[in-house]
Amino acid sequence: MTARIIDGKAAAARLRERVSELAASFWTSAGRQAGLAVVLVGDDPASNVYVRSKGKATIAAGMASFEHRLPESTTEDELIALVDALNESEAVDGILVQLPLPAHIREAAVLTRISPDKDVDGFHPVNAGRLATGLHGFVPCTPLGCLMLLEQELGDLAGLDAVVIGRSNIVGKPMAALLTARSATVTLAHSKTRDLSGHVRRADIVVAAVGRPRFVKGEWLKPGATVIDVGINRTPEGLVGDVDFDGAASIAGAITPVPGGVGPMTIACLLRNTIVAAHRNAGVPLEKGAI
Ligand code: NAD
Repeated sequence: MTARIIDGKAAAARLRERVSELAASFWTSAGRQAGLAVVLVGDDPASNVYVRSKGKATIAAGMASFEHRLPESTTEDELIALVDALNESEAVDGILVQLPLPAHIREAAVLTRISPDKDVDGFHPVNAGRLATGLHGFVPCTPLGCLMLLEQELGDLAGLDAVVIGRSNIVGKPMAALLTARSATVTLAHSKTRDLSGHVRRADIVVAAVGRPRFVKGEWLKPGATVIDVGINRTPEGLVGDVDFDGAASIAGAITPVPGGVGPMTIACLLRNTIVAAHRNAGVPLEKGAI
């Protein structure tokens, strides 16, 4: 193996430390804690684990956590009524509705109801539009974490060739927008892309968000490329990413492991977005570049 391992756990720990410092100074300035509300409908086991760990991380950072666990039978109207109440609540700076929602609830109806100023997941179309047009807004946590790891590894990304594999609203599309904003030359590849390995072969940066275990092969990579593996796939051998790690690690210059790469950054970025939201909502100034 020749690639450097990009330590997402360590980067996430540093970011969380910074959030804690800002959460403490916010509490003093605003006279209240910053707060994150997490809403879970139903009892999907994976979602349960995510919600629990988000709550714990919020409290560990010195912010208030409000967990709302609703039964599977909750109606769309009931869920929207809760979102409205959270939008109004002065104790709540960020609102996160855990996905997926039960089939009888329209995801878009709920996500568009969250106030864009409390949309710490960055899924509201207003925030997607702000990202696309270069305005201040909230950026989805997973691609934001990927960008931070890339900048930590490579510094300035201007002029680099980047391939993002996957075009979901949660990862691929915002990732491509973030890299474009950093002046990388971006190719957004997806299930209909022709000659994917040919595209990957030219890339200095590869971000894989496909949802298929070990899909990206080491021999596709340009030697020295930086590889960010977003995938979380449960297999009989445990958690694996969307990149064939062993094959890629002998050709890439640097690569994120799974687990321990992008995953820890996602939660850290959620905390980051929440403390930023708190400052904006309470009118407490936050220096540019403070986080
Ligand atoms: P998704 O299923 O919404 O999107 C997958 C994308 O992959 C689609 O845009 C599709 O076009 C593309 N794709 C499918 N087959 C392809 C192929 N053969 N060639 C090229 N592209 C192809 O998935 P998502 O929500 O973006 O998540 C992607 C992966 O990232 C999943 O493994 C998910 O578990 C993981 N994920 C991890 C985190 C984290 O915190 N680390 C967060 C979100 C998602």
